[in-house]
Amino acid sequence: DASIGGEFGRVMGWADQYRRLKVRTNADTPHDAAQARKFGAEGIGLCRTEHMFFNEDRIPAIRRMICSDTVEQREAALAVLEPMQQSDFEGIYEAMEGLPVTIRFLDPPLHEFVPTDEADIEQLAKDMGKTVSEIKAIIAGLHEFNPMMGHRGCRLDVTYPEIAVMQTRAIIKAALNVQARHPEWTMVPEIMIPLVGEAKELSYVKKIVVETADAIIKEAGSNMKYLVGTMIEIPRAALTADEVAKQADFFSFGTNDLTQMTFGFSRDDAGKFLDAYYDKKIYENDPFAKLDQTGVGKLVDMACKLGRSVNPDLHLGVCGEHGGDPSSVEFFHRTGLDYVSCSPFRVPIARLAAAQAAIKDAQ
Ligand code: PEP
Ligand code: MG
Repeated sequence: DASIGGEFGRVMGWADQYRRLKVRTNADTPHDAAQARKFGAEGIGLCRTEHMFFNEDRIPAIRRMICSDTVEQREAALAVLEPMQQSDFEGIYEAMEGLPVTIRFLDPPLHEFVPTDEADIEQLAKDMGKTVSEIKAIIAGLHEFNPMMGHRGCRLDVTYPEIAVMQTRAIIKAALNVQARHPEWTMVPEIMIPLVGEAKELSYVKKIVVETADAIIKEAGSNMKYLVGTMIEIPRAALTADEVAKQADFFSFGTNDLTQMTFGFSRDDAGKFLDAYYDKKIYENDPFAKLDQTGVGKLVDMACKLGRSVNPDLHLGVCGEHGGDPSSVEFFHRTGLDYVSCSPFRVPIARLAAAQAAIKDAQ
């Protein structure tokens, strides 16, 4: 166990005396959260919720939700998932012992959950009282040629507000339960809305979150606070960040999608023709690994300035892969972010890079 103690801990302690940036982690399970804490993570900057739906006991319900014809059917399927999500979040909050936790709403295109196996399709048809060909027609209707630019992120909450209601309930109820068990912690759950490209999208989804959360908190007789923020991962969101910031307590830069959409390169196919570009020095580095400071960085910088111009208290962070890359961390320090968030094993590197950036800055 290399965690924290001994010489490793001593070096990290020196780094921590100098850095200004906080270092959070991207974690979806209590195990990853605990691991990251050992490496010094000061919170969770991104808890992706989609992986939680793939468990065997959950996938049938998410499939029923996707193939439903009515709001009532969708709500019935989501009602099965809510207590499971709530217990996931309780586990993660417990592992973080009162440190900040940002939970992101469901992000991927829904077709990622649909069955491809004939036996699973038959089972789904049986569960839903439909024929196999009806289910196949629904699945075919979900097909998109460019799913990463399609029906995903907050667009799911705009079309199916029931998803936002269910996830808000799970996040808030879990936080209330953990707060009751640990009065010594101050629970302030952070709800993050992905793939916003237009301020009105955020205000539409935020209204659902606030109405749902406030009702639960009031019913519990609690005065727990919560934050609602957004990812900045579409260039349009960066360009209109002053409008977006009016609705947001925080911005978290999703530099994976922001890189994809700024370059027009598919993040899922990177490396194929791009290798020729690096060989020919058209681009020096893989922009998905190292932040492109000239283009993507300019959008990050612009969004920070625009956002803080209307909301000086706007909390700023990054949760894309670049949050654990040293040269990118140095850029985020200079840009004035409050924190970087990276995978658990990159937390020590981010702590060192944040300290080096601060020392360089002072010099
Ligand atoms: C991102 O786009 O940078 C991000 C953190 O979200 P995801 O990788 O889940 O799309
Ligand atoms: Mg993203």
